[in-house]
Amino acid sequence: MDYQNRAGSKFGGGGVASSSATNADRRERLRKLALETIDLDKDPYFFKNHVGSFECKLCLTVHQNDGSYLAHTQGRKHQTNLARRAAKEEKEGKAREAQTQGALMPGVQVRRNLIKIGRPGYKVTKIRDPQTRQNGLLFQLNFPDLHGTKPRIRFMNAFEQHVEEPPDKDYQYLVVAAEPYESIAFKIQSREIDRANPNYYTWLDEDSKEFYISLLFKTERDERYGNVPGLAPSGPRR
Ligand SMILES: [Zn+2]
Repeated sequence: MDYQNRAGSKFGGGGVASSSATNADRRERLRKLALETIDLDKDPYFFKNHVGSFECKLCLTVHQNDGSYLAHTQGRKHQTNLARRAAKEEKEGKAREAQTQGALMPGVQVRRNLIKIGRPGYKVTKIRDPQTRQNGLLFQLNFPDLHGTKPRIRFMNAFEQHVEEPPDKDYQYLVVAAEPYESIAFKIQSREIDRANPNYYTWLDEDSKEFYISLLFKTERDERYGNVPGLAPSGPRR
């Protein structure tokens, strides 16, 4: 092999992967992760029909196997329908809720002259690090009309927000802001995020405009909360 003439590579230096190759790698990794971790029983649109094939109740499509269904959920059609559904639900009188969600992130939401276009479609999946057995969550948000800037995230503890009173110290809020969308907040258990774990990251797929937030909780207190509440913006009531 002629190392000296390899484009973009100095003698002794490692080659640099192009950003598109990196993107493809990452997407492949995410696809595998999704296949390993998506719990189809929790997907409200997943339906196994009487002849053993799989249907998407949102898009009214039929799939021969679960892999094909999963691929479908990551495709444009399904994501568009998710976004459409979210916009429709928004219209149907969720104004108050949207308002409270905006209030969660006052510093971001104050520029009222901006026209907001509704909330993003999203999907939350439980994940588990196969090595460390740590539990975590993978958030996938769909921002097809993102305005240039990358989505921003922020964790807020129960006492930093003023929407849910009195504050419940067992929960924290993951707030995601991306113009021109409404900011949304996910209510999750208030366990410490393991920020040192390589599976803690955010990533924007520039092609599909899908934004991923992957996080794992530290292990110590795992047993104390047998299951994972907060899979939707509003957690269980008490
Ligand atoms: Zn679908």
